[in-house]
Amino acid sequence: MLTVENLNVHYGAIHALKGISLHVEQGEIVTLIGANGAGKSTLLKTVSGLLKPSGGKIVFENQSIGGKAAQSIVKAGLSHCPEGRRVFANMTVEENLMLGAYLRKDRQGIKDDLDDVYKRFGRLLERKNQQAGTLSGGEQQMLAMGRALMARPKLLLLDEPSMGLAPLLVKEIFNIVQEINKTGTTVLLVEQNAHMALSIAHRAYVIETGQIVLSGSASELADSEEVQKAYLGG
Ligand code: ATP
Repeated sequence: MLTVENLNVHYGAIHALKGISLHVEQGEIVTLIGANGAGKSTLLKTVSGLLKPSGGKIVFENQSIGGKAAQSIVKAGLSHCPEGRRVFANMTVEENLMLGAYLRKDRQGIKDDLDDVYKRFGRLLERKNQQAGTLSGGEQQMLAMGRALMARPKLLLLDEPSMGLAPLLVKEIFNIVQEINKTGTTVLLVEQNAHMALSIAHRAYVIETGQIVLSGSASELADSEEVQKAYLGG
């Protein structure tokens, strides 16, 4: 579904991604784990068109999308739930959700998807007229995910959904990610919480200073000595 080949990204003189290759197959949850500053967010931003690569290829469903406008990438079926949620604080929950559907014209489909988001995230329904800035961190994460789902993506890019959340809430969010995947959405999940990410993913990549250093099934990586030492506190 998604193939990234020898991807290079620079911020001025900083070489943030140094020849990244990875793939995501339809139906999978693939996780990319790594420390602060390893390049995880940079990879997602480049795939979703927010950053331009300096080299390499990004192919989504046989279409080359590297360097294309973010809007056309959303239209192709790829949506990005960014790190730090980025909800619009002065708009209501429902207005934020509707923004996720701004490129769509299928009114009935949008309405059905809004109902689905409210079914999945009951707390958002209770708070649909509340200003998004007054939501708790966990609720804002749910809102950011709901907004990304309103684009009806085939592939959802999720950047650090666990950031800053209490353990119980992290569990709830990861359960929802699994449900979203089971109902047909492929997921590329970026996480610092390697333990949780490996517990729900099918496959995983480890990124260090802009390079993939390990890859395999999530259970293989969870058992690997290197991953245990560096990312699982073992
Ligand atoms: P985190 O979990 O802390 O967000 P990350 O793995 O997502 O880490 P990135 O945010 O992708 O890491 O950063 C990768 C590298 O690129 C880092 O060295 C970072 O300092 C650098 N970088 C990121 N954004 C910029 C920017 N706008 N300008 C210059 N350098 C940047």
